[in-house]
Amino acid sequence: MKNPKANLADQSDPLKSFRDRFELPTDVIYLDGNSLGALPKSVKQRVAKTISEEWGEQLIRSWNTADWVHLPQRVGNKIARLVGAPQDSVVAADSTSINLFKVLSAALGLNPGRGKIVSEKENFPTDLYIAEGVAKQIGKGHQLVLIDGPNDVLDALDRDVAVLMLTHVNYRTGYRHDMAAITKAAHDNGILVVWDLAHSAGAMPVDLSGADADFAIGCGYKYLNGGPGAPAFLYVNPRHQGAFNQPLSGWFGHRAPFNFETAYSPSNGIEQYLCGTPQVLGMVALDEALSLWDDVDMNALRAKSVALCDYFIEGIDKFAGDYGLSLVTPREADQRGSQVSYSCQNGYAIMQALIARGVIGDFRAPDIIRFGFTPLYLSFADAEQAIAILEDILATRSWDSDEYRVLGAVT
Ligand SMILES: *Cc1c(COP(=O)(O)O)cnc(C)c1O
Repeated sequence: MKNPKANLADQSDPLKSFRDRFELPTDVIYLDGNSLGALPKSVKQRVAKTISEEWGEQLIRSWNTADWVHLPQRVGNKIARLVGAPQDSVVAADSTSINLFKVLSAALGLNPGRGKIVSEKENFPTDLYIAEGVAKQIGKGHQLVLIDGPNDVLDALDRDVAVLMLTHVNYRTGYRHDMAAITKAAHDNGILVVWDLAHSAGAMPVDLSGADADFAIGCGYKYLNGGPGAPAFLYVNPRHQGAFNQPLSGWFGHRAPFNFETAYSPSNGIEQYLCGTPQVLGMVALDEALSLWDDVDMNALRAKSVALCDYFIEGIDKFAGDYGLSLVTPREADQRGSQVSYSCQNGYAIMQALIARGVIGDFRAPDIIRFGFTPLYLSFADAEQAIAILEDILATRSWDSDEYRVLGAVT
């Protein structure tokens, strides 16, 4: 029997029509859109057309006739609207890791004479690895200082810090930093801030301009639904554009790539943060996926995300204690993103058993099971069913089987 509360919430959901715009298997409850967004139906057609007509028939002419050459800027401008950034301050390019390399290097160059980069131990590993690399190869003896947790950010902001690099919403716990307050505190100490929006772009309203953020980066394949390995994006506050050159000085960052000059002469605009030829097929898929957002009210999106996560947490509260599940995501909605995570023993096997029953979330070592709530294509009925299946798996211990202990290369 359907829970009347879930039923009512689905009936009055202002975003319910969006589900039909996604290709979703009927036997799956997809709680992993925070890792790989679902396929928007129109992307299939658009990519097929790009391949058959633009590539197949128009060939190289499409760089101009289909304006392939400006996809990074056009896609960037669509993303800018979702993250509260002005036009021409965002480009789509490369991967999140590579974009972090570019903006972190630029931020260090803009704040000379200081010796530290500050981030969190619990930040996503690639962010920390890239920061390590930048400190060694681009920095001038910079030290990477890692704080234990979100409560230690403000204490770490001293006058020797050049750059504070944080992920807005933590990938494991779902904890969300107060972007505006932290950015202000950093600026008061002369520190530049780089925000990673991997788990916030497309998950909730973001206001980079309002927070006066210096730099940001984010993913195209998570809540933006751009497809596996989609191009990522980066934001540079207009006051920093042209002020310092990012180190990957490829020809697409040149002020006139098709002048084929011998010496590098960087563009003064956001294009300077491009490097080489855009990945057209991936860009086209992301561009098409972003067209969905024209019709999305971001406040309604956030309200539904909060309600879905609250509903899920309350449902699991009823049995979490019986099976050793411990909520690691903040209960306070203003401190979290759009995911719910639990730490528990045997988390990997439990998640495999869930996936076998059609409830797709994921596992993050050492002991976190993670459920992403993407308001565009999930319903309260989905959440209700996922809760019931999880309770059944725990009560029957059906996860306790060797087949669920085989580790995949990707968890
Ligand atoms: C998903 C994610 C990334 C991914 O980086 P790639 O370069 O796309 O592999 C980076 N940072 C954070 C915080 C993420 O959640």
